[in-house]
Amino acid sequence: MRPILLFATFTMEKTTLKIHCNLNSCTSSDNSDLRCSNCKVVRYCRQEHQTADWPNHKAICNKIKRSRRKTEEEETASPDGFMSSMNPFEISVGYFWGIHETRPYMRARMDLVTQLLQVNTLVSVASCLEHLRDMLRLCRGDNLGVRDIIPGLYLRLNRDQECYDFLKCLSFLNLKNEDVIKGIEVFKSRFECAHAIAVVLLKLRMLLDPRDVLASSVYNTEKLNYDTVRVVQDSLATRSPIWSARPELLAQEGLAERIKLLETQLDALFKYIDRSNKWFWKALLEYEKYLAVPVSAYSSGSREEMVLLIHHSRSWIETEGAIKWVREKIQ
Ligand SMILES: [Zn+2]
Ligand SMILES: [Zn+2]
Repeated sequence: MRPILLFATFTMEKTTLKIHCNLNSCTSSDNSDLRCSNCKVVRYCRQEHQTADWPNHKAICNKIKRSRRKTEEEETASPDGFMSSMNPFEISVGYFWGIHETRPYMRARMDLVTQLLQVNTLVSVASCLEHLRDMLRLCRGDNLGVRDIIPGLYLRLNRDQECYDFLKCLSFLNLKNEDVIKGIEVFKSRFECAHAIAVVLLKLRMLLDPRDVLASSVYNTEKLNYDTVRVVQDSLATRSPIWSARPELLAQEGLAERIKLLETQLDALFKYIDRSNKWFWKALLEYEKYLAVPVSAYSSGSREEMVLLIHHSRSWIETEGAIKWVREKIQ
């Protein structure tokens, strides 16, 4: 008998990021091409909704526009002409920031990302990720700390496998389809707190999906067949796109062991993060409060670092059941 694969039919397109009309009250799922021409990161289903949303959207829209213009200016015409005459985009790739003249450009681009992150649309978050990946390519030394932001963005975009590959090769952008369920030893010697937090969420998303199925009353009372599995699946949230990419991990045989393995790994990582920054887990339960606190300079393990980590943790808020898991873990 072929083993039944739970979730084998899952398609993971769920995201809490806005993909349709930006007007809050609009329920339309029309795929209109009407984008805001100013900021280019929000869409509308029709002109009237763009007009209605303008009072709400105006402030951030103008900030993004200004910030993008500033980045473009720095890219082409720095005061001493360095960026245009020396063409660092050709000859200094990897060494930006180390070359002083590139710093205003990198700062401007970082400011643009900060503004774009205020907009919770798929287009905006995807564009932040592209900016940050490119900034890392230009500046391998990563003086602005973009590699701490990138993993959370991958998760917000449901690109979990790429998130894992990025974390595993520590941002050298050269690994593909690494085995997510494998041990966590690989991370131990060189683990930033921000990266550990992303690995926990990634593995947690893998844990919660099958756990829901195994706990479901239908699953436990009815004879398991294809239809039963479909009924159970359709009634539950799906969080991890890795299950649909690797259905063999969901074979009924050995599933309980794989769940156990994830639980053990999560437990170790949870404690690791707690030792690295004692404020973080508790603060995540009150994320709204800390999202309102501006990010400032920080040292490792400090309260200020916690604020920054919370700012990078929107993917936690957007994953159903993740905050609840933290609450249970703390108690
Ligand atoms: Zn706009
Ligand atoms: Zn609309």
